[in-house]
Formats: sequence, C-alpha cells, structure tokens
Amino acid sequence: MSTLVVKFGGTSVATTERIQHVAQRIQQEYAKGYRLVVVVSAMGKTTDQLVVMANDIATAPSKREMDVLLTTGEQITISLLSMALQTLGLKAQSFTGWQAGIVTEQVPSNARIETVQAAAIQQALDAGEIAVVAGFQGVDAQGNITTLGRGGSDTTAVALAAALGAARCDIYTDVDGVYTSDPRYVLGARKLHELSYDEMLELAHLGAGVLHPRSVELAKNHRMPMTVRSSYEAVEGTILKEEVTVEKQLVVRGVAFEEQIVRMTAYYNENYTGSLANIFTTLAKNHINVDIIVQAMIAHGNPSVSFSVKESQLQETLAVLKAHQKTLGYDHIEHERQLAKVSIVGSGMASNPGVAAAMFERLYREGISVKMVSTSEIKVSVVVAHEDMLNAANALHEEFELNKLSIEA
Ligand code: ADP
Ligand code: ASP
Ligand code: MG
Repeated sequence: MSTLVVKFGGTSVATTERIQHVAQRIQQEYAKGYRLVVVVSAMGKTTDQLVVMANDIATAPSKREMDVLLTTGEQITISLLSMALQTLGLKAQSFTGWQAGIVTEQVPSNARIETVQAAAIQQALDAGEIAVVAGFQGVDAQGNITTLGRGGSDTTAVALAAALGAARCDIYTDVDGVYTSDPRYVLGARKLHELSYDEMLELAHLGAGVLHPRSVELAKNHRMPMTVRSSYEAVEGTILKEEVTVEKQLVVRGVAFEEQIVRMTAYYNENYTGSLANIFTTLAKNHINVDIIVQAMIAHGNPSVSFSVKESQLQETLAVLKAHQKTLGYDHIEHERQLAKVSIVGSGMASNPGVAAAMFERLYREGISVKMVSTSEIKVSVVVAHEDMLNAANALHEEFELNKLSIEA
C-alpha cells in the first residue's frame, strides 16, 4: 500500500463545516486504499489573530513565546479534524509537530526541519489509522517548540512525505492550481498544468504565496511528486516535476510580486579600503535575509552598497548594523520603505536574450521607475515603488502574453 500525504491550508479548514467537508474529501482518498497522512494549518485567520494579540501585549514579543502561541492554532485543527474523521467511522489520530517527530534547528520563528523521526506516525499508519498532523511546527534539540515560518505547513507535508517514502504530496488550497500569477490581483492569470521545481522555487521565493519555498526545495531534493489542487472542486491541479512537457513554449511562465520591501544603503568614506562584503557576513550571522545587492564603487566618490530586506526585518537590521558600525566601517545608513519587488520567471529565459530588455522597455512605457534589478538564469526581478507593484505585474503578465495561454492542456 502506498502512502499519500495531503495538506489542507487555513481557508480550507476555516470553519467547522469546512473541516467536515475536508473530512469527507479525506474519506474519498482513504477509500482508494492509501496509507494517509493529513497535514493541516490553523483555521482561517487564527495565526494572524494570535499575532495581533501578542502585539497588543508586547512591542517585541519573545520569539520563543511567539512560537508557543502560534503553534496552538494548528492544534485546534488537528483535534477537530480527527473528531470529524472519527464521526465518519474512520480511525484517526492527531499529532502535534513534536509528537510527529519533526525536529528542527534552534531558530525560533523560522526554523528549518532537520530530521523527521516518523516512528509514531508509521505505527498509526500500520494500525490502519489516518495520521492528522499539525503543520508549521516542530521541536528543537533543547525541547523548545519551534515554527517553520509563515506558510510553513506546506513544508511539514513535504518533509513527512519524504520521510515516509510517500508516492505523492498533494497540497489542497483555495485555488485550483498554480497560476501564471496571483489570480486575485492579476487579470487573466491562467492555470499552469505543469511547472518545474526550479520555476516554482523561484516563484515561491519571489512572493507567490501559494507554496512555502522550503516545501518546493524539499520536493526538488527528494524528487517528490507534488501537486497543488482545489479543496473545493474535484478538478485537476498543477503538478510540479523535474521538467515540463506542456506549455513548454513559454519563455516567461510566471509573474510574482512581493510587498514590504525596504532598500538600505550603507555609505562609506572615500578612503574606506575594507571589503563591502563584511556587512553581509554580519547580517547572515544574525539570520537577516538580504535579497538584492547593488554595489557602487565609483572611481571618484564615496563607495556605497545598497541591498533590500523585508520590512519585517527592518528594525533588526538597523539594530545589527548599528551594533557593528565600528567593525563594518561604514559612515552612515539610509533606508527607503514602501517598495515592492516584481519578478518574471521562466526556465526558457536563459536561452532567450532580450527578455530583460523587453521587461524594462514595458516598465518604461508604463512610466514605472525601476530602483533595483537582479537577474538569474531563470528570473529577472525589479524593485519598484509599492504603488506601482500591481500595475507592473499586470503589464508584464500582458507583455509576455501569459493571459493568452490556452486554458486546455
Ligand atoms: P493556504 O492557506 O491553503 O496555504 P495560501 O493563502 O497560503 O493558502 O495560498 C493560496 C493563495 O496563494 C491563493 O489564494 C492566491 O491568492 C495566492 N497566490 C499567489 N500567487 C499565486 C499563483 N501564482 N498561483 C496561484 N495562487 C497564487
Ligand atoms: N498557520 C501558519 C500561517 O498562517 C502556517 C500555515 O498556514 O502554513 O502562516
Ligand atoms: Mg499557504
């Protein structure tokens, strides 16, 4: 009997009625004869509400206590869903992240999974039970409760699928697949039937919130077939695989965007001779994710280095830089908020010069000014003003004719 891991996100389990609906959906899969593991998120906006409560009490709540607080959300769902399954006459047992053996590194609020000790789950599956596991949570070597970063339940699902040698990991959500861009904001976004792990990984990293980036990374590393599909309608979703065979002709296959980007610039004195790279070593040591980097070593003038960070890490970034000003040797720091990043992604890009030029040309025609640029083999990203973000995304989606993609496979 092969094992299947399925995951249902927050919207799909937002109410008790929806949980009952999910239980019926699971019953259908179970009837096909799978050993079944179900990963769930917190109900609806529960996690956001818990964050608001914490912020009511403390301006900078302890990360450890945040993790203890946020993991309660998923615990509600696993118990209710297990009850719903039992009501349908199925054998089901709930597992918190630590009961499921999800061991993470010691990084509160954004921990990576290190190992999965799946013996307890295996035992439940051997006994014919459906294992209902809380997503987004684990435990570190010290016994602290940890979380995997917002949206991390997808990663729990793929990690379990890999550890259990599952045949597939199905992510059920409120859209029926991965689209060429976020269908909520981009007119004419089209569902992609297939997408390579690499393209999905870029899209996820660049803001396409449909999947947690680490889940795609894990799926790629373990070559785990992974699908994204609707928890409401029984329609075919999107399958992630090594290489795509349909819609192959597309050079650009997706447009992603992300708000709340801040551009930081460190200015140095003219006679500064050290490496500008030291700043990034220091930030990395402090778990600050730096994204786009632009270095200006002008022959006559002050050297400077600009980089982007997420708004959520702004205060931490400023504090770390200030604490290390002497050793880093910069003169002063400036930052610009209210920015956004818009990216185009597609593996055909590497062999198609001119894609970036077409992108810049279109943005210029739209009157959108580009503040930073970053490219790789399969993507081009630009930083623009937040107010230009959706215009840029829609214009680029049209420019690369993604709205004309045939809906048929
Ligand atoms: P869940 O709660 O099930 O994890 P998420 O809200 O995390 O669901 O992800 C689903 C949402 O991702 C969709 O409602 C959609 O608005 C958004 N999204 C962003 N980019 C894309 C994309 N390229 N394709 C599909 N959905 C996307
Ligand atoms: N409940 C968590 C969140 O809202 C994890 C998840 O939904 O995947 O971020
Ligand atoms: Mg999600």
